[in-house]
Amino acid sequence: MSPPRVVIVGAGLAGYHAASALSRRMRGRAEVVLVNPTGFTLYLPLLLDVAAGKLDPSRVTVPLARALPDVRVVLGTVDRIDTGSRRVHYVDADQAAGLLAYDRLIVTVGGVTKVRPVSAVSAHSFGFHDIAEALHLRDHIERQLYLAATSDNPTERAARRTFVVLGAGHTGTELAAAGQLMSREIARGHPWLREQPIRWILAEPAERLLPDMHPRLSETATRVLRRRGVDVRTRTSVGQVTSGGLRLSDGEFVPTRTIVWSFGVRPDPLINGLRLAVEQGRIRVDEYLSVPGHPEIYVCGDAAAVPDLTRPGKITPMSGRHAVRQGRLAGRNVAASLGSGRREPYRHGNRGATVDLGGWQAAADPLGIPFSGIAAKAATRACRLFTVPANRMAIVNDWLADALLPGRRTPRHRAPVSMTPLNLTQEKR
Ligand SMILES: Cc1cc2nc3c(=O)[nH]c(=O)nc-3n(C[C@H](O)[C@H](O)[C@H](O)COP(=O)(O)OP(=O)(O)OC[C@H]3O[C@@H](n4cnc5c(N)ncnc54)[C@H](O)[C@@H]3O)c2cc1C
Repeated sequence: MSPPRVVIVGAGLAGYHAASALSRRMRGRAEVVLVNPTGFTLYLPLLLDVAAGKLDPSRVTVPLARALPDVRVVLGTVDRIDTGSRRVHYVDADQAAGLLAYDRLIVTVGGVTKVRPVSAVSAHSFGFHDIAEALHLRDHIERQLYLAATSDNPTERAARRTFVVLGAGHTGTELAAAGQLMSREIARGHPWLREQPIRWILAEPAERLLPDMHPRLSETATRVLRRRGVDVRTRTSVGQVTSGGLRLSDGEFVPTRTIVWSFGVRPDPLINGLRLAVEQGRIRVDEYLSVPGHPEIYVCGDAAAVPDLTRPGKITPMSGRHAVRQGRLAGRNVAASLGSGRREPYRHGNRGATVDLGGWQAAADPLGIPFSGIAAKAATRACRLFTVPANRMAIVNDWLADALLPGRRTPRHRAPVSMTPLNLTQEKR
């Protein structure tokens, strides 16, 4: 008799750790199949370091076949799951259709960048969810500054030197902080740009930056960013967007060629087609991460609405830490359902958060104690090193090189401006 087959859809943080935990526990007593559009897992929390040229892109990718030798990796995008006949339909890297029957299924498809479907927006707006988007954003910033330097039209010059980040959650705040430093560094190396002001606006509809985090972290981030010259606007959302810029809800029209959308992420489109109960767009699961009424299906990470046992009535937020821990637990609980070990509920100690504010600045509250500056920066980097699945030494090497030789760029970033193809789609994984 052939061993039971477990299909895992998505190899982000949750999927990678689910596959790793499951294959270790089952030791060949189950066939573990991992379906993902790429042959690597991408560590999103360090993507900004890639955009900033501090890390080589290879540092944030982990080749699946090498890291998970006991797992069968299928290069494909799942487009339909038939929960009745227990089959996963996918399209492989050559656009050929494929089919996988499963005994257990783990769905870990994460989320996609929320980009408003307004045609005028698409021309100048960006998401930030993969290496291509990260490198594209950096190239775009560099290109805008170079074009501003040579334009004779003052209105165009101002628009090209203005960058708007919409949404000051974790990613938006880090992005504005890193982006502003990045643009300053580019301008320093260009004689015609040194005297020209560069404007960064960070707009957030809520009352404060980082609305989901401790108020002390919000205060630190606001203080650091304002001191550096970032125009931080709270209680501000976006109104009309045109090809020339955008109108903010406070009435000001901002001429710009760059709008970065960071209003969180929304769950992957695959989830809507599953006909399973959802909460806030995420698939509802019980505390064991399995779908009520479907004990053979587990969901975790950003795609899952997992009950937060530390905050009754709430679900766990979309975050890397939850994704890693839920992925491991899903792997162990699936193994338990196949007779290896005992299943457990998802519990977590609230270990606080870290926010990288670029340079030597960060805000952190591990164990509930808020602090900032170099100590927070060290804590931020330590947390990321702890959760990145591989490449730790190489990452430390890149960081050290960046600290000792500031302004140096990783090999990818030595290419001259405008070398990156621009025909990237808005909503990619
Ligand atoms: C720029 C950025 C910075 C961040 N920084 C932090 C941070 O500092 N700290 C923190 O805690 N969190 C951070 N986060 C959030 C964190 O990265 C996510 O919460 C976490 O990655 C979610 O893990 P996941 O496995 O659920 O989804 P993901 O990591 O998004 O992985 C989903 C995987 O599923 C694949 N997939 C999607 N659809 C399909 C399909 N149809 N078929 C097959 N495969 C599919 C995708 O290609 C991907 O590999 C950050 C996020 C971003 C975007």
